[in-house]
Amino acid sequence: MLELLPPPPSDPLWELTAAFAADERPERLDLVLGVYRDSSGRTPVMAAVREAEIRLAERSASKEYRGLSGNAAFNRLLPELVLGSAAPADRAVAVQTVAGSGALRLLADLVARTRPGATVWVSDPAYVNHRPILEAAGLTVRPFGWRDAEGGFDAQGVLRELGAARRGDVVLLQGCCHNPTGVDPAAADWEVLAGRAVRDGWVPFVDLAYHGLGGTLEDDLLGTRLLAARVPEVLVAVSCSKNFGLYNDRTGCALVLGTSRAALRNVETALQNAARTLYSMPPEHGAAVVATILEDEGLRRLWRAELDGMRERITANRAELAARLDALGHPATARELARQRGMFSMLPLPAHAMLRLRREHAVYGTAAGRINIAGLAPHHAPRLARAVAAVLGR
Ligand code: PLP
Repeated sequence: MLELLPPPPSDPLWELTAAFAADERPERLDLVLGVYRDSSGRTPVMAAVREAEIRLAERSASKEYRGLSGNAAFNRLLPELVLGSAAPADRAVAVQTVAGSGALRLLADLVARTRPGATVWVSDPAYVNHRPILEAAGLTVRPFGWRDAEGGFDAQGVLRELGAARRGDVVLLQGCCHNPTGVDPAAADWEVLAGRAVRDGWVPFVDLAYHGLGGTLEDDLLGTRLLAARVPEVLVAVSCSKNFGLYNDRTGCALVLGTSRAALRNVETALQNAARTLYSMPPEHGAAVVATILEDEGLRRLWRAELDGMRERITANRAELAARLDALGHPATARELARQRGMFSMLPLPAHAMLRLRREHAVYGTAAGRINIAGLAPHHAPRLARAVAAVLGR
């Protein structure tokens, strides 16, 4: 049987990671995957997480099954954190998922069950897994542009292209720190997008994976909260992988906002049914950690302070890289980089130049030009800037 399997497409990101692992040059620099690293290159367990784990270990008496929706405290506290006062709790249904990816898939399944074959508009470029996840659920993907010629958010272009979205279409928007570009709508742009969603009847589907890493949590959640307050139906996929550092605990939440209680009850059952056929129940540990942090004032403060520290390091890394590129005679690239937000930056380099960066300078970013700014240690910035400048030429 197995020989009938056609060669599957390989995953370019994991291929790059494997190439990096096989690279023997001591100066090699891994800026591929979206993982936060501290100045010594480690991805630490956050102190708030460690403390929550200790408390959980002390009081955990059982590893009994949870329900299909996962951890109830998590499902109450995480939406409160994300939505603030933008939407009352009785407008929302939350189901714990296998991280942000699981939330994207469950919500894609929900859309497919509600409107089979529905069109989902996705930014171009997009997070590499958006299209595969949506298509795996049987949805039709239509791209819309995201950046303008200067590398900023293309408000006009986005509105023009989304003008073709029909009532009932879904528009996938990253809530902040757009992956891969680092380019986000401003507050005024979110206002206009919310107005268009209401006027044209499309459903915003927000992917939140980096809140707190571009600006404060409140800054980064502004767009999501605005949509939640203004638009009757909103889908939100929340990941706790990056901002709680729970990458391998696979912790996330599918959040659905609606206006009809009866419809929301159906939504919850549909999400549970989708979960049952995919993986049954989500893993408990990460969700219990997040709930323990969010329900304790002290742990919540500690977590926020750590998140602020991570963001400040990322922001400083980006500023340092931009300043060095400016000093090396590339002010336009420096300005473009300096405006970007979150873990990623997009270098204005085509695939062949990214290959040169890898071959000649041992710097690994994606073929599309994305680099993980959070993966830089302070002493890397000068070398990275020199390598980018060398590839950019004059
Ligand atoms: N959404 C975006 C934009 C991402 O960049 C990622 C991960 O890199 C995810 C969702 C999914 O994250 P996870 O499944 O690890 O929580």
